Amino acid sequence: MIYTDFQGLTISRLGFGCMRFAKDPLTGEIDQAKVNAMFERAIAAGVNYFDTAYPYLDGKSELAMAEALKEYPRESYYLADKFPGHSLPGKIDNVGLFEVSLKKCRTDYFDFYLFHNVNEWSTKSYEREDWHIIPDIYRMKQEGKIHYLGFSFHGSIDLLRHWLDKYEGIFDFVQIQCNYLDWTLQDAKAKYDLITERGLGVWVMEPCRGGKLAKLPEEQSAKLRALDAEASDASFAFRFVQGLPNVKVILSGMNEVFQVEDNLKTFSDYRPLSDAELNTLQEIAESLKKGVPCTGCRYCCAGCPMELDIPFLLDCYNSVKVERAFSVLMRMDGLDPEKRPEACIGCGQCMHACPQGIDVPAALAELAEIVSNGPKWADRAKGRHESIRKDLGM
Ligand code: SF4
Ligand code: SF4
Repeated sequence: MIYTDFQGLTISRLGFGCMRFAKDPLTGEIDQAKVNAMFERAIAAGVNYFDTAYPYLDGKSELAMAEALKEYPRESYYLADKFPGHSLPGKIDNVGLFEVSLKKCRTDYFDFYLFHNVNEWSTKSYEREDWHIIPDIYRMKQEGKIHYLGFSFHGSIDLLRHWLDKYEGIFDFVQIQCNYLDWTLQDAKAKYDLITERGLGVWVMEPCRGGKLAKLPEEQSAKLRALDAEASDASFAFRFVQGLPNVKVILSGMNEVFQVEDNLKTFSDYRPLSDAELNTLQEIAESLKKGVPCTGCRYCCAGCPMELDIPFLLDCYNSVKVERAFSVLMRMDGLDPEKRPEACIGCGQCMHACPQGIDVPAALAELAEIVSNGPKWADRAKGRHESIRKDLGM
């Protein structure tokens, strides 16, 4: 196992993400025996970092993880959990909810604790002064119930900078979506550089982009097999993020023993990507992109009569063209109605201003159609509101 040093801790670079445990097909419940077997194998090979979140698997991930870890001494592994500020039913007892998570995880402290899914939508809750989420949870750190505090991030580079400025001194690490596709598609490079510049650790989620890079289309997969016939598509994605020196932990949401075995092989030693391998990954990333080449220069913004944040909307467009991830739909749900893509009146000003020649109104019309036909984050969050109310006896 390859390890990393983070503020004197020795952490396995492979972190076990607990958001995708397999379910028993008959009962629909988490297959606890399989979780136990995966943990046993991972721990025997040196994995010592486990990551869950209050809402994962409808609140059952914390319980299944704790059950699988119960035989192991608490000081032998690091536990990470997250505060669900992105789906609160309103002002709640923040510390009460934190304590619910402690109880479900059968522990009295978290090594790592994160504000979950910070983006343009959830920041409206996180930053509400009268909800005092951040001060309440920061107090848990001061009281020693949290050792290291961070946040998982799905927003724009501007929002990331805002958080790092506003909460300077509070955070130790930031978890970002980073992989060889999002390196350019979702500005992961710029985010990695900014977090590193601020002296914080980078944690990586979605190194295989929700499995997309672990099972590439045949044409792209064949290019990787030509480089190494034995290596899995996923192993190339992991080795890409392993090559970033400030990436401390790389999370993988494993749900089958064969995935655990394959990942253990990839993390048993560090093999930097060769130039040929890097070039092939870049080629594959470009072939998977189906969006528009917006550089974020903002030349189009000043003249937009609707004052739309065009590069932000095009960033969302590019993401949903690859995959209709909930994190993107959530960002869209957070927009005021007059800032949504359907507010575009098609005047064409932006097309004349754009050095890339992007047909912005066409892209915004398509984005408006995709989000209007897609599931709404707000609807999905309703179930979570209920479970928080129940856990807090509200
Ligand atoms: S076409 Fe739409 S996005 Fe472009 S300037 Fe006009 S209103 Fe704004
Ligand atoms: S001018 Fe073109 S490239 Fe620049 S932000 Fe606007 S759409 Fe993107």
